[in-house]
Amino acid sequence: MTTERVFNFSAGPAALPTPVLEQAQRELLNWRGSGMSVMEVSHRGADFVEYAAHSESTLRRLLDVPDDYKVLFLAGGATLQFASIPLNLTRDGDTADYVITGNWGKKAVSEAKRYCNVHIAADAADVGYTRAVPADQWKLSDAPKYVHFTPNETIHGVEYHEIPDVGDVPLVADYSSSILSRPLDVRRFGLIYAGAQKNIGPAGIALLIVREDLIGSARRQTPGIVDYRTMADADSMWNTPPTFAWYLAGLVFDWLLGQGGLAAIERVNIAKADKLYQFIDASDFYANPVEPGSRSRMNVPFTLPDEALNAPFLEESAAAGLMNLKGHRAVGGMRASIYNAVPPAAVDALVQFMADFERRRG
Ligand code: PMP
Repeated sequence: MTTERVFNFSAGPAALPTPVLEQAQRELLNWRGSGMSVMEVSHRGADFVEYAAHSESTLRRLLDVPDDYKVLFLAGGATLQFASIPLNLTRDGDTADYVITGNWGKKAVSEAKRYCNVHIAADAADVGYTRAVPADQWKLSDAPKYVHFTPNETIHGVEYHEIPDVGDVPLVADYSSSILSRPLDVRRFGLIYAGAQKNIGPAGIALLIVREDLIGSARRQTPGIVDYRTMADADSMWNTPPTFAWYLAGLVFDWLLGQGGLAAIERVNIAKADKLYQFIDASDFYANPVEPGSRSRMNVPFTLPDEALNAPFLEESAAAGLMNLKGHRAVGGMRASIYNAVPPAAVDALVQFMADFERRRG
């Protein structure tokens, strides 16, 4: 039991900015003078419709989203998009190309295979997903409807630091774990999507940014809430959206703008990641397996020299208020997720704890 907020290194649902939670707390019982919480008002009422438009325009400002791209807020998380994308972008007999960068890329492939032919353009399995295979090594098929990749693999801690060039083929990107961590040239993509529970807000909503010409060709059997045309025409309110998640996402967008926008948050993210990686690299005790040029700024996996040390590390770090450092079972060891809302002080405290643990156990 603790009465203080801890440093939360969870990969998701992840830390939210404290000022955002405080604002939600202040507004919880009486949102905008309605005498009701935002969860209790109609999504079709003027207040929520205005709020939804405000959140979209803030997001458009943050990412500089061009006018010919639609922004959608969709239920079902990123996982529903694994199926929605081929349902909207392919027809029977079509091929889509996928780059497998780790577990999430694999899951995207397994869902897409239900609907279309999948061609694997690259797969970093041979190096244990410790490297972002550069785009000039992707082997595209003859006429793919799109190329899908995962710019940041949350489990393996691998990130693309350049946007791959695939010519005129629409580039589709699962930005779940790195959206809003840096400025992005949206024009380079046909479609960007992200589950919310890392850099956007609470679980239960996904953000989709899609070029207009890719909307409107969904298969006939596509459910309405999955069809981008239906959802775009209804401003993402064809059915009742997850209003509370959307509300919190809007607060996070406002918070980001207040931090100075994405260029400013990127500088903070680089400083946090550099500090942690430099510490790990300077130590003979901790190790990170990812190629330096492919290391993620958001998810930093690391191992200790002996697996028997994992349990004491987790126990003692939790006692020091550093939570959720256990690595994913697929890679073992530890993982520190250091999304936008994880403050530099959290990384400072982690590095200090790691140094102290090494001194005592090394
Ligand atoms: N893609 C990536 C890169 C992820 O990290 C995750 C969740 N950790 C998902 C997809 C799945 O997201 P959701 O649980 O929101 O469906």
